[in-house]
Amino acid sequence: MSEIRYDRLHDTHVLIAPERLRHPDTPAEFIEPSIPEPCPFCEGNESMTPREIFALRPEGGFPNERGWETRVVPNLFKAVQIETPPNHHFGLFEYWEGFGAHEVIIDTPRHTTSMCDWTHAEAVAWLKTLRQRVGDLRRDGRLVYISLFKNEGRNAGATMSHCHTQLIALPMIPKSFSELYRRSNEYYQTSGHALMESILSHEEEIQTRIIEKKDEFTSFCPYGSAYPFEVMISSAKATGQIDTLSRTRIDTVASLLISTLQRLRRQLGVFHFNLWISTPPLIDTEGIGSFDLCRFTIRIMPRLYRHGGFENATGIIINPVSPELAAKLLRESIHE
Ligand SMILES: [Zn+2]
Ligand SMILES: [Zn+2]
Repeated sequence: MSEIRYDRLHDTHVLIAPERLRHPDTPAEFIEPSIPEPCPFCEGNESMTPREIFALRPEGGFPNERGWETRVVPNLFKAVQIETPPNHHFGLFEYWEGFGAHEVIIDTPRHTTSMCDWTHAEAVAWLKTLRQRVGDLRRDGRLVYISLFKNEGRNAGATMSHCHTQLIALPMIPKSFSELYRRSNEYYQTSGHALMESILSHEEEIQTRIIEKKDEFTSFCPYGSAYPFEVMISSAKATGQIDTLSRTRIDTVASLLISTLQRLRRQLGVFHFNLWISTPPLIDTEGIGSFDLCRFTIRIMPRLYRHGGFENATGIIINPVSPELAAKLLRESIHE
């Protein structure tokens, strides 16, 4: 039986329709993006990228040379530029000049093409790097919102196979997020709880969509999953955001992330996915209220199916795998 579910978190509907389960449209293993020879993101090829903005070099060393754990460079094909003045033009055809930051985080010096193969240390280095970048960009008073995301594999829009993450900082809050934060505040006014706190305590009661818990963090398949095997890692408590997460919490999130990805890999084989990390706006330009109610969240969206006309016409995504089934399979998917 199919169900049209209301996703309270994103204020949207999803159609959970197990009848539509079929083979994935495009088997992931056959269409890896081609690896340029040599790979500009591999250690030793630092001269092939623009000069680095930041690198994690625990042993010290020189910029743009070997010896890094993660490396951050400007995106060659920038969507927005930090050199552009942050001008906002009002009117019927309102626009901002293309001001902002567009950075690429090279997640690891070794040529690995999947986050599912990362070590715990790699996940920790990645989170520490994101923490540093958001903390650093926060000091630029012109930047209002930071989007942190990963596209892994061609079905997810990746054009480079070496693991990398993108950061886009904007002079405004994207509409869907200003609405999300506004709803969080409204929810708090009426219930006295943060929305994620209520969602997780309810998930805790019914258990069917929970995959794993570690300290304050939980991995679960959200009720309104728009993608098959969609997973969220979040916390009911205020644990800080990416730029204020403690070292201990980074360690916990890294373990849960690696464990989740390994479960997904065992269940799905090689799969492509999008991932994003929530970052509340740096500045409240919209008069939204407190961002303390926002919980640190990682959302993983496997891209097993292409979207078609119905999705385009209605904005309602059809997901043929119920999150209850996905969570059950992922829970049972334990390391042999
Ligand atoms: Zn590489
Ligand atoms: Zn309940």
